[in-house]
Amino acid sequence: MIDVGIGVRQLSRLMTIMGVPSSSERTMKKRERELFKPMVDVARDSCHEAITKECSETRITTPGKGLVVKYDMCWQKRGSGRSYSSSSGVGTAIGQLTGKILDYDLRVTHCAICHSAEKAKRNAKPHNCQKNWSKSAKAMESSTGASLMENIEEVSGVPVDVLIMDDGPRTQLIRSAFLLEHK
Ligand SMILES: [Zn+2]
Repeated sequence: MIDVGIGVRQLSRLMTIMGVPSSSERTMKKRERELFKPMVDVARDSCHEAITKECSETRITTPGKGLVVKYDMCWQKRGSGRSYSSSSGVGTAIGQLTGKILDYDLRVTHCAICHSAEKAKRNAKPHNCQKNWSKSAKAMESSTGASLMENIEEVSGVPVDVLIMDDGPRTQLIRSAFLLEHK
């Protein structure tokens, strides 16, 4: 549910179709929380392996040059040209030569546990809070893009020479954020 983007109801429906007995929402959420860290660890290891592979392919194909990386962000809620109000977005960087995911990151503006504690005017119980963003949904893309490129460079020790993105005003924002963080 964490990374597939579906909720408890959709998961129950999927399990019913597969003929697997479903569980209560509470149990599913509990299992989701248990699985979160191991899943993130596996994904991080996979990204590190992909970066190593992309670097060696780059050394063979274009000796002395930096990496060529493709980047895009998707939001949980569709945004129009004027309105971006999604509470979360995932940015993904893909290596041009291997086609593998080199890094990814999330920007999240809402946490149900923090929100209900705020509403009840009490302190939230200790939890793995994913809330890490307080600016607009639109601004998530440039911030995430810049931090991904920085992380790829840090892990690989190789500069990102070319950043491939869809065209539009956001491209310039990312370039600016990327350049700023590289000063
Ligand atoms: Zn929280």
